[in-house]
Amino acid sequence: MEAAGSSEGASPLSGVSEGEKPGAKGRTTGEFTFSAEPSLEDIRRLQAEFVAERDWGQFHQPRNLVLALMGEVGEVAELFQWRAEAEARTGLPGWTPDERLALAEELSDVLIYLVSLAQQCQVDLPRAAIHKLDRNRVRYPASRSRGSARKYTHYQNRSTDAHHQDGTMDACHQDGPTDAHCWDRGMSTDARCQEGLTDSCSQD
Ligand SMILES: [Mg+2]
Repeated sequence: MEAAGSSEGASPLSGVSEGEKPGAKGRTTGEFTFSAEPSLEDIRRLQAEFVAERDWGQFHQPRNLVLALMGEVGEVAELFQWRAEAEARTGLPGWTPDERLALAEELSDVLIYLVSLAQQCQVDLPRAAIHKLDRNRVRYPASRSRGSARKYTHYQNRSTDAHHQDGTMDACHQDGPTDAHCWDRGMSTDARCQEGLTDSCSQD
């Protein structure tokens, strides 16, 4: 899908030489890092200028941008959907420079629409992201969540009752019906643990 309203009409690689195409060449060693610039604010401003020059602001209401964003996420998924598992690992082994460039462009479409959406919703995205990372650190204490894919509610519940530490409450606090059961009683599983009702929880 053509990303109407993004910068896709113009080359996203303007001013970038062939050898410098972002994403065209995979790195094979060391930890991958982004360039320090541009900032999200730079991207917001450049996209806002691009839209204003074309009088496309009228098409860029939040609902339009959410749908455009979802479309671009679908385009990213399309690049992965028939890949062998070995080619979908970190570093994308086996991808050609053109395939890497195509991914870089689709990811950029996602980012541009996300930034535009945040602007139209008046969300200060960089600060919001840092705030969310702070929340995630609290939700997922490294000492408890390391190597685990469980949802944060698991760690919240375990942290409030020593009874949890022996593992007998795992079934109670998994996501799904037991959470709904707690809600039916008008309290979160966390609140229930704090009120010393974990024994009844284990009987769920
Ligand atoms: Mg696209």
